Amino acid sequence: MLTVVVPCYNEEAALPFFLPEMQKEMDRLLEEEELSCELLFVNDGSRDGTLELLRSYAKADSRIRYLSFSRNFGKEAALFAGFEHARGSCVVVMDADLQHPPAMLQEMYQALKEGYDIAAARRVSRKGEPPIRSFFARMFYKLINKISKAEFVDGASDFRMLSRQAVDALLRMGEYNRFSKGIFGWVGFRTKWIPYENVERVAGETTWSFWKLLLYSLEGIIAFSTAPLSIASFLGILFCLAAFIGMVVIAIKTLIWGDPVAGFPTLACLLLLIGGSIQLSLGVIGQYLAKTYLETKRRPIYILEETSDVHERKTDR
Ligand code: UDP
Ligand code: MG
Repeated sequence: MLTVVVPCYNEEAALPFFLPEMQKEMDRLLEEEELSCELLFVNDGSRDGTLELLRSYAKADSRIRYLSFSRNFGKEAALFAGFEHARGSCVVVMDADLQHPPAMLQEMYQALKEGYDIAAARRVSRKGEPPIRSFFARMFYKLINKISKAEFVDGASDFRMLSRQAVDALLRMGEYNRFSKGIFGWVGFRTKWIPYENVERVAGETTWSFWKLLLYSLEGIIAFSTAPLSIASFLGILFCLAAFIGMVVIAIKTLIWGDPVAGFPTLACLLLLIGGSIQLSLGVIGQYLAKTYLETKRRPIYILEETSDVHERKTDR
């Protein structure tokens, strides 16, 4: 059986388009691949009518289940909950906005049958995206691949199908700060990349602003690399060295030529530079400390408020 996990955050507008499309595909998979499907929606604390829609869907179609969070925990948490509750022997995650074409499921399933553990969609073009955003995205991938051990693939989407083995591996990564691009790369496994064209969202609005994406990329770097910490210490060493050389130079100069009062601007600039770099290093260390702090609290990744699964009502993880 295949479990389709769909995280939903305020998707009231998109769901009515998504569901019939998906049901059609599920019928086709059953017919052509003898693969039965369950559809597992995860309502990530939506503030609109998403939950009501999901309730009615689950009532109308026995293949549909849903989980509902007590508040918005983020897409990463929604994916984790989906993996935890998936009953299928393979699991696919897709967005509710039809940006991930259901028609690709069959091809992904065939890759899994061939022996791959993961079949993932990969955007081949960044068409329709603001150029500045593409530029930063490319920079991000270049940078993170240099400083992290996990493999990050440019254009890799969250649209992917995983074998049970890969899902279980993901579930063992119980970290609180979840950066799924890194988590997928970190667990490894044989991955088949399937190219696809990016399509526009059918309805509703994306929740990702440029600013949010930037913070998200920093999040990823901190979660999967400790290079910034080394950079901070490296900067420290560099400045100490420069200061030491400067002192020697000044001492010699004073001995030879005396000390006329000059160079005040230089001094001010140096102070700013050094103060700034100290602040920066402290900030970097603070970021890691904050993550460690959150991680040591061992808070649950999500809290369920409601689900369609009868035996599980009112329990969280
Ligand atoms: N999503 C979620 N929780 C959030 C934000 C988004 O579950 O806090 C879901 C959203 O409902 C959608 C998917 O994640 O199904 C992708 O979101 P979106 O389309 O806004 O992102 P984009 O496609 O622009 O990357
Ligand atoms: Mg989208």
